Amino acid sequence: MQHKKYDLIVVGGGILGTFHAYHALTNGLEVLHLEKDNFPVGSTVRNFGQVVPSGMEGDWFSYGVRGLEIYQSIQQEFDISVRQNGSFYIASDDEETQIIHELAAHYDSLGYDHALWSKTQIRERFPLIRDTYPTEAIVFPQELSVEPENMIRRLHTYLKQRFSTYHLEYNCTALHCESTSSHVTVSCTNQQRFEAEKVIICNGYEFKLLFRELFEDSGLEISKLQMLRSKPLPDMKLPGNILTGLTIRRYESFEAYCPSFRSMTIPAHYEELKKWGIHILFKQAVDGSIIIGDSHEYALGTQFEELGFSINDHINKLMLEEANRIIPIQHDQIATSWAGFYAQHKNHIVEHDVDDRIHIRTGIGGKGMTASAGYAEQSINKIYNN
Ligand SMILES: Cc1cc2nc3c(=O)[nH]c(=O)nc-3n(C[C@H](O)[C@H](O)[C@H](O)COP(=O)(O)OP(=O)(O)OC[C@H]3O[C@@H](n4cnc5c(N)ncnc54)[C@H](O)[C@@H]3O)c2cc1C
Repeated sequence: MQHKKYDLIVVGGGILGTFHAYHALTNGLEVLHLEKDNFPVGSTVRNFGQVVPSGMEGDWFSYGVRGLEIYQSIQQEFDISVRQNGSFYIASDDEETQIIHELAAHYDSLGYDHALWSKTQIRERFPLIRDTYPTEAIVFPQELSVEPENMIRRLHTYLKQRFSTYHLEYNCTALHCESTSSHVTVSCTNQQRFEAEKVIICNGYEFKLLFRELFEDSGLEISKLQMLRSKPLPDMKLPGNILTGLTIRRYESFEAYCPSFRSMTIPAHYEELKKWGIHILFKQAVDGSIIIGDSHEYALGTQFEELGFSINDHINKLMLEEANRIIPIQHDQIATSWAGFYAQHKNHIVEHDVDDRIHIRTGIGGKGMTASAGYAEQSINKIYNN
């Protein structure tokens, strides 16, 4: 039987696969995009949706900045839920304050727009934040947020409308990939087989379906994160990406560019929180609910089961207590809690070319909503030698 042959098959309907498809389409390629689930439910829909290049280092900062442009340009054509409310890293003690000043000096040297805000300015914008918490904040007005639960499906709809060369198949699991001298064949569930010039696999944290043996010793880890979401609280206003003291003590950019980072002490009340990888971020969704997170537990990429399926109540209690130190929020205002997972690698991403037709790109870690759009652009250029 004669099969239709595509220029490119992208496996994985999350943000990383979708932006690989997007950049291939803008380069004029015909793309088949495969997602195993009825619609994506991986990392890309379980996160905060904070688009925060300010937290990233090196090339990843540049991919994030490029990502801001890409998100905005798509949003101008089609509503993919992008909002520009800025990012606010709120320091709560002298050491965190020192660090945000050092990050400001770094971004001065790069010319990346930012401002240092006093406690009064913080409380004018966020009266909800308790008077006892903030010292100062570093603010990035150009940064964005998206609504993770809706964004990826809207992006798929946009691609279908904009490009007649885009073909999306949900509920289609790629089970085998094999290349010959002239093409690559992808075999899927439902006995479907597809052919293309190339395949890019953006499988997120699913390591058991394709090239399982490659992932055994790859150094990939899976992180499990717990998240909380309040009921809609329209009287509580918290516009923007709110990142707090523990985030200042955790994100890459602070570690990479702030000379005092390594000599920071750990206040006693942070010790148990740090044990569970907790840092507190807030994002108010469009329905008025407040998303609060997150914690981090780790397992090897192929040992996903070890992370367990339960929500640890101790972790939720610790997160809520720390959140309540920052804004008044109580247990009876919480509506849901969930676990999200992502794959990460010490080299920031896994780029493995099985041969010159099959390319694996995964393990973007905790920065995929920020950096995927920009990273995928250079990844496509590299794969196609543009
Ligand atoms: C709780 C949480 C909070 C986060 N907050 C932020 C944030 O605020 N900002 C930020 O920048 N990043 C954030 N992240 C990180 C971000 O969500 C991830 O980096 C990003 O979503 C990873 O995208 P992905 O496409 O690689 O993976 P995924 O979204 O998991 O997508 C992979 C897709 O591939 C599909 N797939 C796998 N194998 C196959 C196969 N064989 N055939 C067909 N389909 C297949 C899966 O079903 C899945 O849909 C957060 C992550 C979590 C979990």
